[in-house]
Amino acid sequence: MTDVSWGMFPGSQIFFLSFYVLIGLCLGSFASVLAHRIPSRVSWSALRGCNARSACPVCRHVLCWKDLIPLLSWARTRGKCAYCGAPVGWSYPALEGLCGILALFVGIGYGMTVPSLFLLAMIPVLSAMIVIDLRHQILPDVLSGAFFLLGLAFVWSSGMPVSLHFLASLYYAGLIYALGWLTGRAVGKPALGMGDVKLVAGAGLILGAQALPFFMCLSGAGGLVTGLLFMYALKKTGCFPFGPALILSFWVLLFL
Ligand SMILES: [Zn+2]
Repeated sequence: MTDVSWGMFPGSQIFFLSFYVLIGLCLGSFASVLAHRIPSRVSWSALRGCNARSACPVCRHVLCWKDLIPLLSWARTRGKCAYCGAPVGWSYPALEGLCGILALFVGIGYGMTVPSLFLLAMIPVLSAMIVIDLRHQILPDVLSGAFFLLGLAFVWSSGMPVSLHFLASLYYAGLIYALGWLTGRAVGKPALGMGDVKLVAGAGLILGAQALPFFMCLSGAGGLVTGLLFMYALKKTGCFPFGPALILSFWVLLFL
């Protein structure tokens, strides 16, 4: 049905996908807010007052609309605060760009449907988890919980068997927990956090049991690459975050 209407109006597909990219870029800005506010425990009640206004963390100047345009504001000021010149990290445009790309794939794969709305809602949640895990090596329960609930809504609205997908979620979580426990025994220190297990439960709920071996292989390879990057490129020893590899594997398998 959707293909037919796109064929009738040649420019409409491009317009629709551009709209999704635009939404994705805005979701990227929201992901940055989540990634900043959740680990620093900034009260969510503040969101209702003037404190909710975004401000430069260095000079505290309240940012106006032209400072908050995804990608463009960062490019306009060449990665600096427009008021005090303090550097603004590249993670902001990177996160906005990532969310824009993910929204584009959601648009291509799912069109303008109810399940695609739940996938769009997952974008800032999972993207914030990537940033928080890279910075603090934690995966907050509030975000894992939101991902799981959105996954449940996605499975239900897609007409997939909820009970089978719920069972798949238990398989995924059980397997990753067992692998983490065995690896921990082998290396003599905890290899996996419970945050990773909760995140994997959400991924399993959505992907279903048939994707389990692919998810384990892909996330294992991603985890290996992350570990090597942390050891050799960033010269960091000890624990490294596994969340980014899990989340990117989830998106790759969902779109494939
Ligand atoms: Zn400033």
